[in-house]
Amino acid sequence: MTNVPAWIDDTPIRKFPKLQRNISADVLVVGAGVTGITVAYLLKKAGSKVALIERERVASIDTGHTTAHLTYVTDVGLQQLARNFGKDHAQAAWEAGATAIDEIERIVEQEEIECEFARVPAYLHARVGASSKKEASSLKKEADVAARLGFDAAYLNSAPYFNLPAVRFANQAKFHPRKYLRSLVATIPGSGSHVFEKSAASEFEAKKHRVKVNRNWISFDRVVVATNNPLVGLTGMTAATLLQTKLSLYTSYVLGAQVPTGTIPEALFWDTREPYDYLRIDKRSGFDYVVFGGEDHKTGADHFHSGRLALHRRERRAAIHCDGLLR
Ligand SMILES: Cc1cc2nc3c(=O)[nH]c(=O)nc-3n(C[C@H](O)[C@H](O)[C@H](O)COP(=O)(O)OP(=O)(O)OC[C@H]3O[C@@H](n4cnc5c(N)ncnc54)[C@H](O)[C@@H]3O)c2cc1C
Repeated sequence: MTNVPAWIDDTPIRKFPKLQRNISADVLVVGAGVTGITVAYLLKKAGSKVALIERERVASIDTGHTTAHLTYVTDVGLQQLARNFGKDHAQAAWEAGATAIDEIERIVEQEEIECEFARVPAYLHARVGASSKKEASSLKKEADVAARLGFDAAYLNSAPYFNLPAVRFANQAKFHPRKYLRSLVATIPGSGSHVFEKSAASEFEAKKHRVKVNRNWISFDRVVVATNNPLVGLTGMTAATLLQTKLSLYTSYVLGAQVPTGTIPEALFWDTREPYDYLRIDKRSGFDYVVFGGEDHKTGADHFHSGRLALHRRERRAAIHCDGLLR
């Protein structure tokens, strides 16, 4: 068993140089995960000179470890979103997700990227082992609200494979994130645009519109910070510290394994547990590949042994889900 994500293992990405001189760009993008690479790609397409800088290697941090379900269904349910922010805002949040998936599909087609992009249904299903009657009514309501707000959602008495009550969301998607981003990032260098790795933004001079990177300076007209986490200490310490107190680092456990072809339909699944379990199935040549995860918890909140226990539970549940067919 290896602990390297399948995407990193099977899809190496070429190395980009380390910044070793002063340069200037119309737009500086800090951080080369899916956010930074997408922003830099779109800006370059729109005619800007872009500098994309990455502290480590491109698409290797969160983006290299994602399970890459492409779905507009948010972790907080639509009913809850509507209660918190009103129906219009809840609807807008899901529509933004749907538009993002459409945009990825458009880019995949336009750039002819072979990244296993596929439209698949997604199932939010009742927990394995819980009273499905209780959950059925809440899932029905979730499906009704989603359908009323214009989303292709339907309640099912029995989701495929799990045979549990569920909401089926049509037209979600999945892809291989590093195959997709490897193609996107390759289009950025050239004609005054750059990608640099091992090049962390270490100090901003706001008035001069420049950032220090490896003891050199990048001057820019505009900057996009796509670091996922705030650049603590690079902005005002008070602001950074206040924001930091609202953020927590979380750990998730994910297993990937081969199962015989056709064991589980190609789809996305997640359940109503808190934290939820998530599952995706990819058809491969001669077998299906199952990616199964969950058991999220605040990093450090669980001591070492409960982390081990979580992983053990995860392995057991994966084995149950796959009818003991994991090899
Ligand atoms: C196990 C797991 C499963 C997930 N599953 C899903 C899923 O199914 N669907 C989904 O939508 N999301 C999922 N996510 C979340 C998703 O992967 C992330 O939200 C997404 O990849 C974040 O992308 P990003 O570009 O914003 O950040 P990142 O990928 O974290 O990229 C930020 C980059 O900024 C760089 N950086 C930081 N500081 C600096 C600096 N000072 N200078 C230069 N560079 C810097 C970092 O090195 C990093 O490469 C999952 C995440 C995990 C961990």
